[in-house]
Amino acid sequence: MTDLDSIKIQRSYKFRCYPGSVQRQQLAVEFGHARWVWNQCLAWRSNLYQDVGEKVTAIDFSRELTFLKQLGTYDWLKEASACVLQQKLRDQDTAFRNFFAGRAKYPKFKKKLHGQSIRYQLDQRIVANLYRAGEFLKLPKLGELKLKWSRKPLGIPKMVTITKDCTGHYFASFTCEESIQPLPQKPSGIGVDLGLKDVVVTSSGWKSGNPRYLLTYRRQLTKTQRRLSRRVKGSQRWHCQRMRVANAHARVRNTRQDWLHKLSTTLIGQAGFIAMEDLNVKGMMANRRLAKSISDVGMDELKRQLEYKAKWTGCEWVQVDRWAPTSKTCSTCGTVQETIPLSVREWTCQDCQTVHDRDINAAKNILALATLGRRESDVRGGVHKLEADYAC
Ligand SMILES: [Zn+2]
Repeated sequence: MTDLDSIKIQRSYKFRCYPGSVQRQQLAVEFGHARWVWNQCLAWRSNLYQDVGEKVTAIDFSRELTFLKQLGTYDWLKEASACVLQQKLRDQDTAFRNFFAGRAKYPKFKKKLHGQSIRYQLDQRIVANLYRAGEFLKLPKLGELKLKWSRKPLGIPKMVTITKDCTGHYFASFTCEESIQPLPQKPSGIGVDLGLKDVVVTSSGWKSGNPRYLLTYRRQLTKTQRRLSRRVKGSQRWHCQRMRVANAHARVRNTRQDWLHKLSTTLIGQAGFIAMEDLNVKGMMANRRLAKSISDVGMDELKRQLEYKAKWTGCEWVQVDRWAPTSKTCSTCGTVQETIPLSVREWTCQDCQTVHDRDINAAKNILALATLGRRESDVRGGVHKLEADYAC
C-alpha cells in the first residue's frame, strides 16, 4: 500500500495529570477566574440583548476586560493567564454560534461543583519548547505538568484542555492530526445482532456476553448515595461523600467504556465489513422497563465507536433496516416463521428442520441482507444504510 492511501484523522487523547500543590493553587485561580469571566460576559450580553436588543460578542467583552484589568478593583484578574480568559470568551462565542444555528441550548452559567475546564492555545512557533510527546507539557504560569503518558501521540496539538472532574482528578486532553494506514481490505463480512442477554452476537457464532456494570455496582452506588442524602448539604462531610458518589459513578463509566472499546476494536479487526441493525436506541429507551439495561450497555456509544473506527481502518460499516424480520427468518432456507417470542432462545425450522440459536440466526440474516445490498453499491471505509426494499 502506498503512502497516498493513508487517511488523515483527528485523534483525541486524554491523560491523567498530577499537578503539584503550587500548580493546583494556580489552577484553582485559573478555573475560578475563567468561570467569572464566562458568567460575567454571559450576563452582560444576555442583559444587553433583553434590554436594548443589542447583540455583542465576546470580543467586545474582551475589550472591556482589558479596561477592567487597569482599574484597581479588578486587579486580581491579572492572576490568571490572559490566554485562558481569552479562550473562555472565544468558547462562549462558539456556544452562542451553536445556539443560533439550532445545534445547542442557550449557554448556561458555570458552577463550581460541576466539572471545571480551561483551554490553552499552544503557540505553534515555539511548540517544540512546550510539548514533546511522551516527555513534557509546559503551560503558562504553571510550568511543566506531570502527565501519565499512557500512549505516545504522533501529531502536535494546537490546543490543550485541562479539566478537573467532580472526583477531583485532573486531566489534560487534546487532539492531534495524524495519518493512519487503513487495514488491508478483507472480502469477508460479519453480521452483528445487538441484544441485552449478549450485547453482541456475530454471525460466526461468537457471543460477547453482557457485563451489566450498573447491576454489579448497584449496591455500592445506592449505599453511597443514601449516605449523601443524610449529610448536611454544604458541610465538610457532605463534600467528602459527594466525592465518593462521583467516584462510584466514574468507576462504572470507566469499566464500561474500557469494555466497549475492546469490543469495538475486536469487531472491526475481524472482517472487511460489518453489518448491524439500525437500532433506534432512543425509541427503545422510551420503554421504562428496558431503559436502565439499555443505557447500562451503552449501545449508542458502541455505535459511535464502530462508526469512527470503521472510517479509520477502511472497514465498511453497513446498517440494515430495523424492520427487516431478521429474527424470524430461517437463515438456511429463507422461510419466514410466525413471530417467535423473545423467551424462545432456540427453535427448529418447520421446513428444513435446522435447529437455530435465535441470536446467531438473526446475525446471519443481517449479514445476508447486507451482502445483498452491497452488490448494488460499492462503498468502502464508510457508513451506509440499506432500506428494506427487498423481499425477505
Ligand atoms: Zn429453514
